[in-house]
Amino acid sequence: MRIFDPHIHMTSRTTDDYERMAAAGVRALVEPAFWLGQPRTNVGSFTDYFDSLVGWEPFRASQFGIRHHCTIALNPKEANDPRCRDVLSVLPRYLEKDGVVAVGEIGYDSMTPEEDEVFAAQLALAVEHDLPAMVHTPHRDKARGTDRTIAVVRESGIDPGRVVVDHLNEVTVARVAESGCWMGFSIYPDTKMTPSRMVSILQEHGMDRVLVNSAADWGRSDPLLTLRTGEAMLAAGFSDDDVDRVLWRNPVEFYGQSKRLDVSDLASADATFEGNSILRGGS
Ligand SMILES: [Zn+2]
Repeated sequence: MRIFDPHIHMTSRTTDDYERMAAAGVRALVEPAFWLGQPRTNVGSFTDYFDSLVGWEPFRASQFGIRHHCTIALNPKEANDPRCRDVLSVLPRYLEKDGVVAVGEIGYDSMTPEEDEVFAAQLALAVEHDLPAMVHTPHRDKARGTDRTIAVVRESGIDPGRVVVDHLNEVTVARVAESGCWMGFSIYPDTKMTPSRMVSILQEHGMDRVLVNSAADWGRSDPLLTLRTGEAMLAAGFSDDDVDRVLWRNPVEFYGQSKRLDVSDLASADATFEGNSILRGGS
């Protein structure tokens, strides 16, 4: 099984996780810029983080044969802090970089007027830089947040086929399917979405425009839940080709719209990874 995790926060994971992911068949991933836990107080701490998403993390991933890409944005939570607002002015130079395949994560956390403004500004940046957009839906009041997200996407004029609305569940999937946007699902060990619930959603809604990710962030999470979802699909009667479509070809199609995705040489890659010693010297 070859796996492309389209949304995983490797910054919060250990190098051992990269090793386990490579052994499980993960060959490529997209790491969206997000909240780092500790609130940031100035633009410089964002640019250092963005630099690590286009520099250090791709290097760390490459030690295990994993191709790393990222999305860059001011996340919804920190959109509310006036000290972070100038991040918007440094985004254009990052959105021109090779490893950056979308604007994201953008969207809503608490649905404040500040978040409205920053969300709309970043959708405009996606249009201007001809990039897809990766949109986070709020964990509280998800149905209302998803409706408002779809309305803002519509107003922005971006092609909905270039937008993924993520962290969906049984309640929100139908409205996103109707909108023409891609549907993202973050599989977690015990909250939000599980492999078996994901299989039921695929049985009901089909595989078109569906992305499955492990998110793997600061909460309890598991970077191998993409593999577990593939296994659950096979156990439920989906074919190997169906699993390849959901876990590989769909993310390639979505992020390929950036024209910066660099995975063609991985298409038939075997598990050739051998642990590399470069990272072992560090402490
Ligand atoms: Zn995320």
